[in-house]
Amino acid sequence: MPALSARGAKRAGDPRAPAGLPPTVLFAGYGLLCLTPVILAALQGLPARNVFRELSSGLVMVGYVMMLLQFLLSGRFRWLSGRVGIDRAMRFHQVTAWAILAFVLLHPLLYAAPRLAPDPTDALAALNRMFSSPNLRSGVIAWWLTILLVPLAVFRDRLPLRYELWRLSHGLFAVAIALSGTLHTLRVGTYSADGWLAAFWIAATIVALGAMAHIYAINPLLQLASPYRVTSNRKVADRMWEVAVEPERGHAMRFAPGQFVWLNLGHSTFSLTEHPFSFSSAPADRPRMAFTIKESGDFTSQIGSIAVGTRAYLDGPHGNFTLAGRRAEGAVFIAGGVGFAPIMSMLRQLKAERHAHPVRLIYGNRIDTQILYRD
Ligand SMILES: Cc1cc2nc3c(=O)[nH]c(=O)nc-3n(C[C@H](O)[C@H](O)[C@H](O)COP(=O)(O)OP(=O)(O)OC[C@H]3O[C@@H](n4cnc5c(N)ncnc54)[C@H](O)[C@@H]3O)c2cc1C
Repeated sequence: MPALSARGAKRAGDPRAPAGLPPTVLFAGYGLLCLTPVILAALQGLPARNVFRELSSGLVMVGYVMMLLQFLLSGRFRWLSGRVGIDRAMRFHQVTAWAILAFVLLHPLLYAAPRLAPDPTDALAALNRMFSSPNLRSGVIAWWLTILLVPLAVFRDRLPLRYELWRLSHGLFAVAIALSGTLHTLRVGTYSADGWLAAFWIAATIVALGAMAHIYAINPLLQLASPYRVTSNRKVADRMWEVAVEPERGHAMRFAPGQFVWLNLGHSTFSLTEHPFSFSSAPADRPRMAFTIKESGDFTSQIGSIAVGTRAYLDGPHGNFTLAGRRAEGAVFIAGGVGFAPIMSMLRQLKAERHAHPVRLIYGNRIDTQILYRD
């Protein structure tokens, strides 16, 4: 009898589950890339400046690579973050944003720090000169934009902005920072006069902007080749809907139970109106693929009005919350509310495979009428 995981999943023609770089390679690569400009700068053998300036340059170089790598981390690239999971990659993206903010914030302050004594107003005057220097304008723009970008992301939920508008502004800010930051580095960076370091910054900026082009242009173009249609939309509990789609032509997407897609219902593939939902149907049910969706905000509160026949596009599958690689013979699933959706997909797949090992479900819902799939 098979263990819970991969062998069973493979029988169902799957899984897409955890493809991508191993986490150790990913973290080692990330660390190495962050240190590369510092190493390239050290190899130049330039005479050392005062400790504040060196610290300022070192920190901002590390911070700036981290900033450019944010484009890749948030880029939904399965080859990159498939194994660690896009959700963890996004969490890392959010946490590292604080380090980037700190390094960028400190950059001019550390330059001015030696002038604090004996007269602190000298430091203020130095800062003033930096911020008004035409030569440093692109750097000042990148500095201000970074200082705005991070709080706007952290406090997104409190802004009177629709998610899609926020996402657009977040992307545009990031592109502006990448362009102005690289311009600043190449024009006035102490170490960037060196050909290798300049080439590194140019290559990193091209990769970052390429990642952006992939998300907003190449991916939407690729999705055009695989349209889906809504085949049913039924209420499964109070404020809970099950929307099913099937491909208009060709094969349905391969996925592993537990994964999710960004679902676009009735919009152009270039639209930003897409939302992440877990599959609640099993791979064994393909070509029918279903999502269990709770009415909660602007988009989901209208989900019941999505008509059969509406065109849909799916970006995915993403996520590593799957059974793949698990060797246990039985399982206990714990779910709350609509978080039951991905677990329902796993249970349905185990049932389709006639899995005979013990499986238990602990399911909680604060609202009796919203309990999903009672039957
Ligand atoms: C990996 C993942 C899987 C999910 N699976 C399911 C599921 O199976 N069933 C289900 O009902 N819900 C699921 N959700 C939650 C679902 O995506 C949100 O409820 C939905 O996007 C809210 O959209 P809204 O416009 O109705 O609400 P809004 O009021 O606009 O947004 C509410 C909150 O949802 C988040 N959100 C909104 N739009 C997006 C977006 N495009 N991308 C990411 N986050 C967004 C934001 O944090 C926002 O503050 C999942 C979320 C994630 C991240």
